[in-house]
Amino acid sequence: ATPTAVSVGIGLGAKHNVLIKDAVPLEQTAQVDVVAVDKTGTLTEGKPRVTEILPLAGVDANELVLVAAALERASSHPLAIAILEEAKTRGTIPEAVSFENVAGAGLRGQVNGETALVGKKALLAEAGLDISALEPLEAQLAGKARTTIFVAVGNRVLGVVAAADPVKATSKRFVEEMRSRGVEVVLMTGDNESTAKAVSEQVGITRYFAAVRPEEKAAKVKELQGEGRFVAMVGDGINDAPALAQANIGVAIGAGTDVAIQAADIVLMKSDPLDAVNAIILSKATVRKMK
Ligand code: ADP
Ligand code: MG
Repeated sequence: ATPTAVSVGIGLGAKHNVLIKDAVPLEQTAQVDVVAVDKTGTLTEGKPRVTEILPLAGVDANELVLVAAALERASSHPLAIAILEEAKTRGTIPEAVSFENVAGAGLRGQVNGETALVGKKALLAEAGLDISALEPLEAQLAGKARTTIFVAVGNRVLGVVAAADPVKATSKRFVEEMRSRGVEVVLMTGDNESTAKAVSEQVGITRYFAAVRPEEKAAKVKELQGEGRFVAMVGDGINDAPALAQANIGVAIGAGTDVAIQAADIVLMKSDPLDAVNAIILSKATVRKMK
């Protein structure tokens, strides 16, 4: 494009809360035919709240929450914030030491001299714990768009804390507007299958990848590119940065992490996914002016 068309396009974008970093994304976003989106913080508010506390038989609900909170003090994950909020009214959070952050899975640490775990069920299973008693608790939450946080200390599995993260008001329209322009929206999340499905249904997404580990997100983008697609990725987390870089067009949520914003070509300043549609409209208009 001519320097004038580029500066006009970038200026128009800024006016509509779409920060386009240079001429390349301005010209190429028009070609996007699939958008891969992260869930937490992108389609959802990213501010989950604890909704259910389900201790196993014989376990005290307060102990379940407080052990989880002891480890979550070491994390800045949105789920950590939700659990610490819930713990406030439930007693004294025990001291924890030697924390380990297991990316996309949860946390490990020592509580009262025993190894404690909080996060995905796989984290407990991999530690050799018997997780079969958790099934009826999970069944109570199925189909409810809950993120499940499993807690164990020593050789005892304590139970599940469930959290819900409301879908942003504009997420459904974002999916509809993309579809009406021939662009497919695909969900890609580290969260579990049942939550991925429930959120997808809420916003009208028909294809989703669940339980995607952080290091797999970029590979999934590559897979879509292998189908001959021109891929945009929208995300907010540190975990999303490699996928944003791999995508043909990386789009970061303005309220996201610095790492994601740096890796992206476009930043949605209002953190509204619907603004990604404006990026496509603007790019198409710019390309038309060039011809
Ligand atoms: P998303 O793709 O939804 O942004 P993440 O990759 O950050 O999610 O995390 C994936 C999953 O790992 C979460 O849904 C949760 O089950 C688990 N997890 C990650 N961090 C934590 C934490 N601090 N506490 C509990 N669970 C966690
Ligand atoms: Mg996220």
